Formats: sequence, structure tokens, C-alpha cells
Amino acid sequence: MAQPLKVIVVGSDKEASPRDRNWGVTIAWSHPLLAKLLPEELYKRLPECQPDPGLDTKAAGFESVIIRDGQTGVTLAEPPFEGVRRLNIQKTRRIWSEGLNVKYGKTITDIELTTDGVTAHFHDGTSETGSVLVGSDGGGSWVRRWMLGEQATPRVLPYTFLNFPFRYTRERALKMDKMMHPVVDVAPHPKSMYVGIFVLDKPNLQKPETWVFYILATWAKQDSDYAEGKNMVDELRQRMDDWADPYKSAVEWIPEDTQAKAVQLRIWGPPETGWDNRNGRVTLSGDAAHSMTFHRGQGANNAICDSEKFVSAMIKVKNGEKTLHEAVDEYDADVISRGRTEVEVSKVQTDAFHDHAKFLESPVVKHGIKPMSEVKKENS
Ligand SMILES: Cc1cc2nc3c(=O)[nH]c(=O)nc-3n(C[C@H](O)[C@H](O)[C@H](O)COP(=O)(O)OP(=O)(O)OC[C@H]3O[C@@H](n4cnc5c(N)ncnc54)[C@H](O)[C@@H]3O)c2cc1C
Repeated sequence: MAQPLKVIVVGSDKEASPRDRNWGVTIAWSHPLLAKLLPEELYKRLPECQPDPGLDTKAAGFESVIIRDGQTGVTLAEPPFEGVRRLNIQKTRRIWSEGLNVKYGKTITDIELTTDGVTAHFHDGTSETGSVLVGSDGGGSWVRRWMLGEQATPRVLPYTFLNFPFRYTRERALKMDKMMHPVVDVAPHPKSMYVGIFVLDKPNLQKPETWVFYILATWAKQDSDYAEGKNMVDELRQRMDDWADPYKSAVEWIPEDTQAKAVQLRIWGPPETGWDNRNGRVTLSGDAAHSMTFHRGQGANNAICDSEKFVSAMIKVKNGEKTLHEAVDEYDADVISRGRTEVEVSKVQTDAFHDHAKFLESPVVKHGIKPMSEVKKENS
């Protein structure tokens, strides 16, 4: 029999005001899933969510990502992907939440299981009751900790991570825009270092001085990177000798007053035994369920895949084909096994970006940016 359903998704911004936490994600294999999930008008607005709303990767001949040798600038791999595009996560969040009743500024503080559902309690004394709660509260998920205790603690990888935005002068912005690949342009360097240069936003296509770029960089961790008040842009500048373009100029041209802090790289994959979904009343999705490094660009694609699988599971409940418990069990089984694989493969990719001699054997060179489930199918 069909059941009435109310889903509580925990993971809208817990801060009441917008944060500067922003970057782009490469949308590749999750495109058809997005087409299923989004209303047609929103799907058509995907270009507006891009860092460069004017970029049509197909028309521009850039349906790929590029990986060069950081020392020589020579292309090491250029995995193609039809329709690949970047989405700026803040623009996407703003556009996709239009017309939805998203409640911002709420931090979850307790979960109460009731006889026929679940109640989420928030720090401001409010609560929401529903049939099933989905913890979509990111890599440091509180819901994951509630479900798994100590087992929910992320692993810290031995790399220092930088992610910071800046603007160039008009002339340099135009030059960099021509020099770099517009989707993803990244490089390993023999000195065990990774640098990528990306566009974050082009608020005015006619005014290159308004364009926001950002750099991602990782290298073997040293404690001094985390010294109080240390500006890591200076540290990065000192590490750029012997780098080729576009990365050399990308760092050299950063405005003098740009600041950045070192961040830890953390990952988390579900244990083999998964988690107890409390009779289908609590589950996880996105980085809460599988938090992977960004070096193969898979986290958001998997988060979108989770959403599509979860919605399909709920449709089965609504149609009376499955009980809530059965549907969430089926959803969990996929998220857990896919998440375990992708977290580990992304970690292998991260290690490979810091091991130049073995880079050409790494997953992104061998398999591009496809999901591992597809690679497995192709190889069987
Ligand atoms: C630099 C960088 C580059 C990346 N590049 C790519 C890429 O190219 N391709 C790709 O596929 N993926 C990429 N990723 C990964 C991708 O960004 C993540 O996988 C994706 O954003 C996960 O989405 P999410 O909604 O699960 O988590 P998040 O985006 O982290 O959202 C979690 C939300 O939960 C809220 N929250 C946290 N705690 C609580 C709480 N206690 N109560 C209530 N709310 C809470 C937070 O405020 C936040 O809004 C990248 C990640 C990084 C860091």
C-alpha cells in the first residue's frame, strides 16, 4: 500500500549568511541524472550556474579536461567527456533553491526516532518531523557521527591544501583566459606537487578585470604550513620555480595582497558493514556518505547520483512497490559500495599527483573522469 512520505534533508547552509566557501565542480557523467532530477526550466539554466555563463564546451571544442606536466607544460592526458561543464557551487545553490522552502541557518543538534518516523532538532529550538531524514551535511557530517560514532571520523591525508580566489588585471585576465583550458587545467610536478588554475566566476563577460580565478594546490604536508598567520600564497610563490605555463604565470600574476590559509585534506568512506538506517528512518548522501578528494573530480557527480537514487527509491515507496525500510536498504547498499570505491580511487589519484614517476598509471590517465562502475562494466 502507498505510504505518505515526508523527507527531511539536513544540509542547507547552517550559517545564516552566505560564506565565501566557493569553487567549481566538473559535471560529467551525472549530466543525464541531473536531467532526470531537475525541472526542465532549471536544467536549461545550467549555463547560468557556470563560472563562465557564455561557455559552450562543445561549440568551443573543449569537451575535456587537461592534465599537463607541471615542469614542461606538455599534455599528459586530456580525457574527453561529452557535454562536460563546470558549475560554480554558490551560483548553483542560489539558482536551484529559487522557489523552494529552504530553511537556512539551522544546525542539527539531535535526532529523535519516533514509532513511525524521525524528528530532527535544531540549535534554535525548532524541529522537523518526517518519515526519513537524509544527512547531506557534508564531509564533517554531524548526522554521520550520530549514526556511527567514532567510525564517522574522517581520515586526514598527509597533504597541505590551498584553495583561494583572486582577480587579475584586465590584461592578465585576458591572457590567462586564452592560455588555460576553460574547464579543468591541472598538473603534477616532479617535486611532488599539484597545481590547478580555474575560472570561478565571470560576473561581466565584457570586463575581464571582474573575472574571478582560483588556484588549487597540494603538496606533502609540513607543520610550518599551519603556523598561525602564515600567508600560504607566499609559500606557493616560493615553490613555483621550475614550473611551466600556464601555472607559472597563474601564480606570478596573483595580486600582492592575496591571502590564503592551508587546509587539511580529509576523506571518509563508509565501513564495509555500512550503517544502521534505523528501519529506513535515517540515511546519508553526498560528502556525508562518501567524502573524497577532488583530484579526479568525482564528489559532486556522486552526490547527484545519490540524489537520483534516493528520489527513485522514494517513488517506489510512494507507489507501494517497496516499504520505506526496503527502499532505503536498497539505496544504502548502492551508496555504500559506490562510495567506498570512489573514495579509495580518488585517494589513489591524490597520491599519484604527488608521485610524478607513476602518474601515467593513475586512474585519471587510465579511466578519465568516468565512474568506476562504468570502468568495471567495460572491463568485464
Ligand atoms: C576545491 C574542491 C574542488 C572540487 N571539485 C570537484 C569537481 O570538479 N567535481 C566533482 O564532482 N566534485 C568536486 N568536489 C567535491 C564536491 O564539491 C562535493 O562532493 C560536493 O560539494 C558535496 O556536496 P554535499 O552537498 O554533499 O556537501 P556540501 O557541499 O559540503 O554541503 C553540506 C551542507 O551542509 C551544511 N551543514 C554542515 N553541518 C551541518 C549541520 N550540523 N547542520 C545543518 N547543516 C549543516 C553546510 O553548511 C553545507 O551547506 C570538489 C571539492 C572541493 C573542496
